[in-house]
Amino acid sequence: MDYKASDKIQDLQYFGEFGGVNPSISDSSTYTFLSAKTMFDTFEGNTEGCYLYSRHSSPSNLYLGEAMAELEGTESANVYASGMGAISAVILQLCNAGDHIVCSRTIYGGTYALLKNFLKKFNITTTFVDITDLTSVSQAITPKTKMVYCESVSNPLLEVANIPALSKLSKSSEIPLVVDNTFSPLSISAAQLGADVVVHSLTKFINGSSDCVAGAVCASTEFCLSLKDVNDGAGMLLGSTLDSLRAASILKNMRTLHIRIKKHGENALYLANQFQKDGLTVVYPGLANHKDHTVMTAQMNPEFGYGGLLTLDVGSVEMANALMELMQRKKLGYLAVSLGFYKTLFSAPGTSTSSEIPLEEQEALGLSQGLIRFSIGLDNDIHKTYMAMRGCMEQLGVLASGKVLV
Ligand SMILES: *Cc1c(COP(=O)(O)O)cnc(C)c1O
Repeated sequence: MDYKASDKIQDLQYFGEFGGVNPSISDSSTYTFLSAKTMFDTFEGNTEGCYLYSRHSSPSNLYLGEAMAELEGTESANVYASGMGAISAVILQLCNAGDHIVCSRTIYGGTYALLKNFLKKFNITTTFVDITDLTSVSQAITPKTKMVYCESVSNPLLEVANIPALSKLSKSSEIPLVVDNTFSPLSISAAQLGADVVVHSLTKFINGSSDCVAGAVCASTEFCLSLKDVNDGAGMLLGSTLDSLRAASILKNMRTLHIRIKKHGENALYLANQFQKDGLTVVYPGLANHKDHTVMTAQMNPEFGYGGLLTLDVGSVEMANALMELMQRKKLGYLAVSLGFYKTLFSAPGTSTSSEIPLEEQEALGLSQGLIRFSIGLDNDIHKTYMAMRGCMEQLGVLASGKVLV
């Protein structure tokens, strides 16, 4: 892959109205028209460059949307008030009552609950499959299937979807491949690899400062405009619009995304290697023994690394909780959900972010209760962090496969 998203984001320039190096923030919900005719045409969707009402679009949201389109190399992108706002708009735009979705069985808990529970209201059903098993993906597609949905790197098991292969498969059934690329911005260029629609939670790495929630949909101009349609656009009508002030602050944070992603990946790879040498049960796509390491290596942009997420299985929920509390007391990170912060964040997905998934299903997926998900921070001296984490593990007697030293 030689798509240089980071350079394109750096090259995007918008000056403020007084020549400021950042664009002015559009602090208005509504916009005046010089003629009634232009207002009518704008409602009809025939007027380029005219703003109508900020739920439809605003200059600040368009700037951030353009940066997101450069990130994925898509024609267009829309921004939303949250990742779930983006995901729900895409799904409801593509599906009618009675339709069917084929989805990876390891996905973000909120997406799982939306597909499994909420969409029952509309009789939209989902078959959850092992996304790394292309035969079962293909067998799950029926004439009613409207999309294949997956995460490029899945939450929390860090399975890697083979995007080119899934793209080929969904194209042969003439349905779109929708990829949530929240875990791997810049590292994986999902649209370049064949995804038709790429969704992001900007809340995580892209904003990177854990101070807001936001989302985006990167796709063709036709699809992005359909989401904004005043008559039947799910984005427009469900109303999960991002505030302009937030859009402006996320755009500024995106300017440093390439540096942050490299550092998150470098630190995570260092810790994963060390934990593995210590005989711990660590999962990280950058380790040669990760089951999807080859798929990840073949489709990633190598300079950005294997991502900031890793998991450690310490055997039991009690041990996971004790270790996380101790690491927090030692200031090694925070016991918190979410990811992409400058500080390491850890949580036990079985009892938090994936608790929407029933216990039996969690077990079937291989999501054990002793699993800790780490979003590795931007620590300047990761060796020092490693030594301190190891100290915590020694203190609690954590060994490989959760055995406890006596
Ligand atoms: C957090 C997350 C979401 C949801 O995003 P919000 O901004 O919290 O609505 C969706 N997908 C993945 C992979 C996530 O990590």
